[in-house]
Amino acid sequence: METTDPVCGMQIDTEKAAATEVVLERTYHFCSTSCHEKFLANPDQYVTPRGSSPEHARRHGC
Ligand SMILES: [Zn+2]
Repeated sequence: METTDPVCGMQIDTEKAAATEVVLERTYHFCSTSCHEKFLANPDQYVTPRGSSPEHARRHGC
């Protein structure tokens, strides 16, 4: 399954992720351990709540 690394925005295969982290029942996958470390240092910056947010609308227009 393809997913997006929340730190660098890279498309990655969940089976090939270098690291994973579960936050608020969502699993995040990372392309590298350095992205994982950045995520852990500041998770609020990368975790987006379910549903639309202003940031989401700006990125996707939906
Ligand atoms: Zn990454």
